[in-house]
Amino acid sequence: MTEKCGVVGVSLDGRDAARPLYYALYALQHRGQESAGIVTHDGFQQHSHVEMGLVGDAFGEDDLETLNGAAGIGHVRYPTAGSVDSSCAQPFSVSFKSGSLGLSHNGNLVNADEIREELAAAGHAFTSDGDTEVIAHDLARNLLEEDLVRAVKRTMGRIHGSYSLTISHDDTVLGVRDPQGNRPLCIGELEDGYILASESAAIDTLDGELIRDVRPGELVVLQDDGQGFDTYQLVEQEHTAHCFFEHVYFARPDSVIDDTLVYEARRELGRKLWEESGVETDVVMPVPDSGRAFASGYADAASETTADGEPRAESDDGVEFAEGLMKNRYVGRTFIMPTQDERERAVRLKLNPIKSTIEGKTVTVIDDSIVRGTTSTQLVQLLKDCGAEEVHVRIGAPAIVAPCYMGIDMATRDELIAADKSVAEIRDEISADSLAYLSTDAVAEVLEKDRIDLCLGCVTGEYPYDIEGEETDRDVSRPDIGEQQLPADD
Ligand code: SF4
Repeated sequence: MTEKCGVVGVSLDGRDAARPLYYALYALQHRGQESAGIVTHDGFQQHSHVEMGLVGDAFGEDDLETLNGAAGIGHVRYPTAGSVDSSCAQPFSVSFKSGSLGLSHNGNLVNADEIREELAAAGHAFTSDGDTEVIAHDLARNLLEEDLVRAVKRTMGRIHGSYSLTISHDDTVLGVRDPQGNRPLCIGELEDGYILASESAAIDTLDGELIRDVRPGELVVLQDDGQGFDTYQLVEQEHTAHCFFEHVYFARPDSVIDDTLVYEARRELGRKLWEESGVETDVVMPVPDSGRAFASGYADAASETTADGEPRAESDDGVEFAEGLMKNRYVGRTFIMPTQDERERAVRLKLNPIKSTIEGKTVTVIDDSIVRGTTSTQLVQLLKDCGAEEVHVRIGAPAIVAPCYMGIDMATRDELIAADKSVAEIRDEISADSLAYLSTDAVAEVLEKDRIDLCLGCVTGEYPYDIEGEETDRDVSRPDIGEQQLPADD
């Protein structure tokens, strides 16, 4: 599973924005590794540099020198909608009659094709098949007739799906979160300006202070002198649809979302996992790095109560928490495995077991998800080959039964092991002695939300947006864009 994008925007008091944007993108690199880009504006002219590759490869000293201006936005991307090439790399920038626009988008629209067709029929020429360009054209068109705030509101009334956007309109930087707040976006204060970013870790990197999350349906406009920001609640909706997987998997553990440190949320989910499905074993170990916070919370809870929920006696040592698997950090996703045999051995390249921690012991191994099941199967085999007497698998999230349409590269239904298999069948397939997932109710409880305020689409098959051929979990329908009057064509 891959998060698809990270966005950032800054407005500073006189200092060039390029370098802070560059450092912020480094902090958001985990959200997208395919391309990186920055667009700035110096009050007269827009400057843009967008390249395929990691942030460190995409920018050189010379590139940063040419990105003049105290206001700008940035983006890291791994493509969702649209082709895997530079035409979809972001920020998307365009110049039009009433100025220049830059757009960075995290999320995925589910009605982009309808709007693209309509705009194309009205004479708009598209250079990519991505949904970000659709938003840019729609906004550019609305800006011909409306002021900035009204133009954004009109575009928000037409697009349906998941979006956290940072936008530059000339030297004004703004941030928008979709009315259900599916993807994160927060605002922070820097020494000499303000920042909008997908995650607070980017604000920390710049020595800034997190102010708060941008509210679902809210527009935040940074003042172009870096002195403050204005906010407009453009759309109100009864319920939110925050992606619960941000807390479980995508966000950095050192980021704060909804006033909670992601690391702490994961530890709490681990504690719940013990309460719901704890099993007494000699050792508890995480799958590094994704399972670490869950395993630490799980082991903590296991040291306090038994698997039956009784307080542990003082003489009972409980369950040992140990790092039994070492990760090779240099095996990237571009790793080439030419033969099937080598592919099967891939887990050995990524994870090396510490035999003395495992041999002759009963082991609980903890991770955050099982997608296709291939890695889990190899992992269980690896632990058994190392002499584990029993291998129990615990997952700090509910089973993934359906794909994501909101900007996460997950897998198709055919590829998801839990799409058509019961927990017992998956346990047998991965050859574990037992397997348990966390319940959706436990997730909602730990995140202190009602279930209806979370997106649980990939674990329930019911989505918070109107997606063709899929069920919804609420009263939601895509806007009838035909009914909305378009401004006259330029
Ligand atoms: S479907 Fe799953 S991964 Fe996608 S937004 Fe919803 S909770 Fe997040």
